[in-house]
Amino acid sequence: MTQRAILDADCEHATPVAAPPRRVPWGRPGDDPQPAVAKTAQPEVASPMTTEQVAAHINPWEVAQWQFDLAADKLNLDPGLRRVLRQPRRELTVHFPVKMDDGSVQVFTGYRVQHNLGRGPAKGGIRYHQDVTLDEVKALAMWMTWKCAVVGIPYGGGKGGVIVDPKKLSSKEVEALTRRFTTEIEVLIGPERDIPAPDVNTNAQVMAWMMDTYSMHQGYTVPGVVTGKPISLGGSEGRNEATARGTVFCIIDAAREVSLDLASATVAIQGFGNAGSIAARLIAEEGATVVAVSDSTGGIHKPDGLDISRVVAWKEEHGTVQGFPGAKDITNAEILEVSCDVLIPAALENQITSRNAGRIQARIVAEAANGPSTPEADLELFRRGVFMIPDILCNAGGVTVSYFEWVQDLNRDHWSEQVVNEKLRGIMTRAFAETLAIAKRDQCDMRTAAYLLAVQRVADATAMRGLYP
Ligand code: NAD
Repeated sequence: MTQRAILDADCEHATPVAAPPRRVPWGRPGDDPQPAVAKTAQPEVASPMTTEQVAAHINPWEVAQWQFDLAADKLNLDPGLRRVLRQPRRELTVHFPVKMDDGSVQVFTGYRVQHNLGRGPAKGGIRYHQDVTLDEVKALAMWMTWKCAVVGIPYGGGKGGVIVDPKKLSSKEVEALTRRFTTEIEVLIGPERDIPAPDVNTNAQVMAWMMDTYSMHQGYTVPGVVTGKPISLGGSEGRNEATARGTVFCIIDAAREVSLDLASATVAIQGFGNAGSIAARLIAEEGATVVAVSDSTGGIHKPDGLDISRVVAWKEEHGTVQGFPGAKDITNAEILEVSCDVLIPAALENQITSRNAGRIQARIVAEAANGPSTPEADLELFRRGVFMIPDILCNAGGVTVSYFEWVQDLNRDHWSEQVVNEKLRGIMTRAFAETLAIAKRDQCDMRTAAYLLAVQRVADATAMRGLYP
């Protein structure tokens, strides 16, 4: 069975979805009803490799396009619209020099991709990581388009990244890299055009340097050019916790749906950065017991529960969660398979694959990370009745509060944390309910449902605008 065939079987027990009424073709009347690009893709590698090696072979851009194709098929999307939405609108690659502390000049490669601008300016984070590729950034940009549409905020999707391991750079070198990268992508970014935010290995300080660089070139302060800034520079209350808080709002709703009592539930979290460590704290505040966490160096497991504030302090002191007193060290592959009720992947892509999906014990998988599960894994988890909260819904709290920050910046306003969290709760709860209603209507998994919601919204906006010129 091909990968595509497997994807098509995603909802095989479903009542057939009634195709939406066909609109007047957006493209040429009588257009070829087939998708523009052949749907062949690299299958997941079935070999005795480790989870990490399997992940390295899966191209996130191909995964993103398969997910889109699935929704486009079910929506009977106009072929012309399909061709447009299947590709990014703009891809910029830059190679730029940075003077290092030892006086040498190194050249780094970075990307900024805008997938779709139909519903508003591009929005998406900047990632600093040694494994960044253009295809990864394209996938992340496309996922941002759908994410903004799922939660109904007026943005298109963008993403950026630099191929660098920032842990090997001094703070001065990271600042120089950030300022020059900002300058290189300035042809694309701006508060009305494309608004970056933090992602893996970037933070409020990096956003402050980006904002300052852009503002220097404009000659005045432009806080709305990036989000995730420090509060003192126009950042929003609650932005730092927003991704994790949105994830926890989704988990609360999902737990209600599967009749899981969070107060007696156990949770495992892969990734202990902004999304993962704050999700650990917030889910513990809901009464759940966090039994395992991990970072890039590996994980720790303690079946009777970890004291999260002590793990945070331990990581700050030792640079790793491993070696935490009273817990057993485990690998990043093992953490996904520990006994728990809720699993939160909060690190990188392609962690849950056909290789390990059958061994996942959680009843709820909450994707705080972008793209942590492959389509093959989705199918297996759905077959086994695992309730999956897909990334484009589960981690949308981050971009939602980024949107609040941008609105506050443009209005020179500042909202209290209580106002931010209440507005966030309203948006996440509504998006979860809308997605769940589609999943129930079509008897399909939550990812397919979220895609049906998002792709339809973006397609409608694109069709209403018409084709320029
Ligand atoms: P971060 O840099 O703060 O943290 C990343 C964490 O993942 C770190 O603990 C790191 O040690 C760990 N990690 C790295 N490689 C790993 C590996 N191979 N195995 C296990 N752990 C590994 O980044 P973040 O902002 O928390 O982002 C994490 C995920 O959440 C990413 O997929 C990101 O795109 C997604 N996300 C973040 C936000 C946000 O607002 N920060 C919003 C939406 C989605």
